[in-house]
Amino acid sequence: MSVIDSLKRPEHTGANRCRPCTVVNAVVVAVVGLALGVLWLPAGFVVAAIGAALVYLRGYVVPGTPSFAPRLVAAVGLSGVFEHDDEEPRQSESLDANVDPDVMLSTLLDADVLVEREDGLFLTDEARDEWESAMATLRKASDDELAEAVAAALPFEAEVAAEFDGISIDGPSMSVWISRPQAIADVATLLAVTERAVDPMVSLAATEPLRMFTEVCPECGGPVEETTVRNCCGGTAGVYDSPEHEVLGCEECGAVVYEFGDE
Ligand SMILES: [Zn+2]
Repeated sequence: MSVIDSLKRPEHTGANRCRPCTVVNAVVVAVVGLALGVLWLPAGFVVAAIGAALVYLRGYVVPGTPSFAPRLVAAVGLSGVFEHDDEEPRQSESLDANVDPDVMLSTLLDADVLVEREDGLFLTDEARDEWESAMATLRKASDDELAEAVAAALPFEAEVAAEFDGISIDGPSMSVWISRPQAIADVATLLAVTERAVDPMVSLAATEPLRMFTEVCPECGGPVEETTVRNCCGGTAGVYDSPEHEVLGCEECGAVVYEFGDE
């Protein structure tokens, strides 16, 4: 790996580059470079050149930029200038079924999907193995193949299509768009839970709550951690969404697997 490669931060550059972060940092670098240049011209040039190179390679140089730059840009009324890929990022919705939560819980406990211990509810080891291996298979599917898997797994007829980097579902009682990582997790739930003789509508209702138990990223297999939505730089929410929103997200690809409700 070259020195340049080791400096690169692909999660904050290329398609993931956040324009508010880049511009705010370029301004900071220019101001610092100018200020130093007034004192001693060569120092100003060196700082400006190194700063510009780092912003180019890493997305930003000022620590913590992703947490403040979009809000700063929004606060001064310039967010309209920085449209992310001309389109607001889509917020994933959830598959929903009209099932009593108590009925769902007791069904999942009876089917050995969940187990209740002193310190809370857990996925059983077998259910986790089945769920994760279904996810591993689905992970390899193309978007169109995933859309077919969603259509086949849903307990009702629906028009399912790969759209906007995710899956849109148009059925008799729901019309939703779900992200690819969520579609992978949810189809795996439908397959693994229904396999245990659970009513498919209960499996459907379980898709969202079960994502809380995710330990590996549905999309890439990386580790999942509790984090907050970063509102740019590979994050998933728009400028106006709260970056402090608690989520389960992938440490490696930034996929949001589960969003905790607002307290
Ligand atoms: Zn991932």
